[in-house]
Amino acid sequence: MENQNKNDIRNYKRWFAMSNQEIFDKLKTNPETGLSSELAKKKLLDEGENKLAEAKREPGWLIFLKTLADPLAIIMLIAGFLSIILPIILIGRIEHEQIPGIIVIFGVVLINSIIATTQESKAQKSLTALKSLAEPKAVVLRDGVQSEISVEQIVRGDMVFLDTGKFIPADIRIVESPKLRVDESALTGESLPVDKHADKLADSEMMLGDQKNMGFMSTYITDGRAVGVVVATGEYSAMGKIAKSISETKTKRTPLQKKLTQLAIWISTIALVMGIGIFLLSYLTGGEKNNVELIAAIIFSISAGIALIPESIMIIVTISLSVSAKKMASRNVIVKTFNAIETLGTVNVICSDKTGTLTQNKMTIEKLFLDKNIVELKNFKYDPKEQEQWHFVNGLVLCSDAISIGNARLGDPTEIALTDWGHTLNINELELRDTYKRIDEIPFDSERKLMTTVNQVDDKQVAYVKGALDNLLKICKKIYLNGKVVPLTETIKTEISQNVEPLLQDALRVLGLAYKIIETGQEFAQDNYEKDLIFLGGVAMMDPPRKEAKFAVARANDSGIRVIMITGDHKITAMAIAKKIGIASPKYNEALTGLEIDALNDEEFKEKLKTVNVFARVNPEHKTRIVETLQSQNKIVAMTGDGVNDAPSLTKADIGIAMGITGTDVAKESAKAILTDDNFATIISGVREGRNVYEKIKRAIAFLLGANFSQMLVILFILSFWAIVGHTGKIIALGDINVLWHIVSVETILAIPYGLAHSKEQVMMYEPRSPHESVFKWIFVEIISITFFNTIFAIIAFCIAYYGYKDKIESPDQLMAITSSAAYIVIIFAPIFYVWIVQIRNNTVKIAKEKSEKATLNEWMLGAMIIAFLLNIITIFIPGLNDFFNVPNTLEETIVTILLISVGLSVLPFVFIFIETLIFKAIYQKIHKDDLKIAKFNFAKKQKIDKIKRFKRKMNIKIEKMKEE
Ligand code: ATP
Repeated sequence: MENQNKNDIRNYKRWFAMSNQEIFDKLKTNPETGLSSELAKKKLLDEGENKLAEAKREPGWLIFLKTLADPLAIIMLIAGFLSIILPIILIGRIEHEQIPGIIVIFGVVLINSIIATTQESKAQKSLTALKSLAEPKAVVLRDGVQSEISVEQIVRGDMVFLDTGKFIPADIRIVESPKLRVDESALTGESLPVDKHADKLADSEMMLGDQKNMGFMSTYITDGRAVGVVVATGEYSAMGKIAKSISETKTKRTPLQKKLTQLAIWISTIALVMGIGIFLLSYLTGGEKNNVELIAAIIFSISAGIALIPESIMIIVTISLSVSAKKMASRNVIVKTFNAIETLGTVNVICSDKTGTLTQNKMTIEKLFLDKNIVELKNFKYDPKEQEQWHFVNGLVLCSDAISIGNARLGDPTEIALTDWGHTLNINELELRDTYKRIDEIPFDSERKLMTTVNQVDDKQVAYVKGALDNLLKICKKIYLNGKVVPLTETIKTEISQNVEPLLQDALRVLGLAYKIIETGQEFAQDNYEKDLIFLGGVAMMDPPRKEAKFAVARANDSGIRVIMITGDHKITAMAIAKKIGIASPKYNEALTGLEIDALNDEEFKEKLKTVNVFARVNPEHKTRIVETLQSQNKIVAMTGDGVNDAPSLTKADIGIAMGITGTDVAKESAKAILTDDNFATIISGVREGRNVYEKIKRAIAFLLGANFSQMLVILFILSFWAIVGHTGKIIALGDINVLWHIVSVETILAIPYGLAHSKEQVMMYEPRSPHESVFKWIFVEIISITFFNTIFAIIAFCIAYYGYKDKIESPDQLMAITSSAAYIVIIFAPIFYVWIVQIRNNTVKIAKEKSEKATLNEWMLGAMIIAFLLNIITIFIPGLNDFFNVPNTLEETIVTILLISVGLSVLPFVFIFIETLIFKAIYQKIHKDDLKIAKFNFAKKQKIDKIKRFKRKMNIKIEKMKEE
């Protein structure tokens, strides 16, 4: 086999022992220009895509079998088999009239399982598709240009560029690596990151862990950056040889799904008890007591029992979750599991990064800080001849990695601001970096909040250190002040802190620059760079808040969610932004720094958390402490993150949310959801979806249980009625076919559209629910009122038929059939009308808060109502067909009148539930007058913003069209 061939270059193991040039020659690549796209294309065809063998998706038949193993399906199947076996045992045959009932039982199981199977495989497919949206990309050099490509397109010989937080996309031989450290735990089990370098190693047998100049697929960079040449891809990589397939996407059951299975089992138990009651009533009070009657009673009570079980509830959950996952993706939230949707719906604290999430991450330099004073940009006269000034301006550009190609900018926005400022002073960063070559560097990290480069400036080696002003001043010994370098005393430091404050109050981020010349003979070592520096000055840059952030924070607060800002930025800057967007408020008016957090014990920190919404100058470890403390107070915490070091807090949070644009691969891997636009406001739309799923499911439960319970009660009523009035013959309530048709009509046709219903804004008006909350909370009254009104009007229809027509209809059996039909019509028609009202009746009737939100019918629901209505009309009024549904021939005028009266009556449960809703609304409005004002205000504002957005979008389309023309 090719794979086994040791001479095959793809199996070559000793890349570590080759020189860079030997590798380039062997792989026919050029380190300056990379592969040509043509060769890369050819290689891709020859070698295949760079991916591990994919796990096979669960086949449809297996999903189908699994749906049959669902407890509810099992109960239905047992019921179905009992309906076959019992008659055979007791009377040696199955009666003709029982066959349709049996067919319907199995038919219902089959239809349910087919729908569940298609929904389940759709759900699996959409999760896989969503995951692929979040898959990492890699920067490679092809045709002399760096570009980002899908990891799967990488081939041997590609030059790849990697930095902190990136997954290594294939096996690479490192050819350049300043201070590179890689976490190889996924491959070697080594838990600590290992140092890597670019030097050739001895040509001997070597374990993967010892190959320090190699980077392996699926491991990731914890520090530094690297350039490497790809030597093995896909299944030929070290990881590919160990793991034959990537983990399979499984749609695990969410807590809600598990809760609902329990609920359904619980209801099945009630169904069993009620079924026995029905059996006793129908058999013992009936006429003859023989085996044929016994069987009829058993089969009827089995049908009635299973009619109570809400079989379709699981399908509704699956539909709701996958519809929501898709909707979320279109709104820039990618969820990796359905669980994440549910958790988002319960979140009551969101801890958000500031830069880029709450702010635009578009930085521009506004002011300078020189000679201990604030200097307006326009007043700065750059004189390159002045040595320290030259170092200040050029040092800021040299100590950055951002580049500009035409109008495009690449790199960290903080550094882009620096290179852009350089342009205004005629400094081209690429030329500058080419002239004053970088010899060494210590990359920026959010713990030190500093970055250092050592550049060859003429005959000197100069260390430039830029970073957070407070941290930088700590490692400076001197300062360039009024044209002279003087010692940096504590008094000057205090003056600087005081004088810089107005910049921070203006929400500006101040970045300082210091430098030192590494004298000959001085130790040329990284430990030596960041000390005894000369402070040159600072730049103050503005990163404006995102326009939508303020509104999104207000919406979060309205819906009972607290927003906490966590940032590496200065406390005063952070507080200034927090005030602008409403995160700091009279209740939460304090900010804490990382150092201040460290000084507090757990109890003190808990206490502080009651008033602090802003955490500044924090390190990633503080994030974990914040999450843990909030969780100890029973909060459900969402935490955003982007860096490698954010991984622990992202994992620890109830829902970790990674940034899609600025986030590292590691952060994305640790998170349960990814924001493709890095925008805080997007989290809030995710929460809205999460809450809506739960809401839809609750509506469906209320509807189903109400409809099913009322049917059961009506059957019990009819049986008791005839027993009480002393009917001597065979008592029939509804036929088993009617009861089973109720399942098809109500559960399958009417309830499933709940899962497809539109999401509603109102859900953002409530406090977040507890994840332990019972699914019955807030819908108990609804279930009771549906059951009540439905039962009452079915009984009224029955009574009208009985008392109004008992003298006109001679045969008692015919009277029994007509009265039962009257009640049946209400049972089957009423849900068609109130399905809509149940859908709009919101949690605790808080819909009242939102007058402006119209209760719109979703098109699926409308379609379902029309179909159910037509089908029921046909089954009741078409002679011949109605026989099958035990409805008497409708050609007789008396009967038609009775049936029409019943159809009319079936609208009344809807009317009464509607009136009840209005009454609840009025009461609610009275109690929550003040809250409503605020909620309405915010809602109206949102509508205005939406309107403007829609208008802008329309205008843009028009402009585009005009341009094309
Ligand atoms: P967030 O709000 O998401 O935490 P942040 O940018 O405020 O983002 P960090 O990236 O940890 O947080 O930055 C912390 C501080 O480090 C900044 O306030 C700034 O002073 C400094 N800093 C940021 N980027 C750089 C950089 N590229 N080089 C040097 N210093 C930087």
